[in-house]
Amino acid sequence: MSKYICPLCKQIGDEVLRITVENIVLDHFKKYLKSSEYGFCKNPDCSIVYFNNETDQILYQRDLKVPVWFKNQENPIICYCGNVTYKDIIEEVVVKKTSSTLADLIKNTNVMKNCRCKTTNPSGKCCQPVVCDVLEHALELRDESKK
Ligand SMILES: [Zn+2]
Repeated sequence: MSKYICPLCKQIGDEVLRITVENIVLDHFKKYLKSSEYGFCKNPDCSIVYFNNETDQILYQRDLKVPVWFKNQENPIICYCGNVTYKDIIEEVVVKKTSSTLADLIKNTNVMKNCRCKTTNPSGKCCQPVVCDVLEHALELRDESKK
């Protein structure tokens, strides 16, 4: 069984390091962090973001400096290092039509220019797979609008 089971939704979470949590939580929570690792709840409908089953510590979206992209955001941040949102990528690919590959996006927007994902992305992981998903979705939207 996984070390990380979300105390609210009971789904299995990913592991994130304390350094990530420290940089994402509001400053006044920093001193209360007790663990060296935390679970990261991946359920979009759950309000818990970080938890630790051993110390019973729980951090909600409202305790964080940045919104978690998949937790029901209207315009989620896709690249936290460059502060590029979902709408920014749609604008670039579908409206302006100036990018159609990841390399274009890197050239034309702030995505993945200065990767500090371990401390800026709530998952502690690189935003590249999420950027690629959104790019794919944007290309589909663009192609549909051509029909
Ligand atoms: Zn949860």
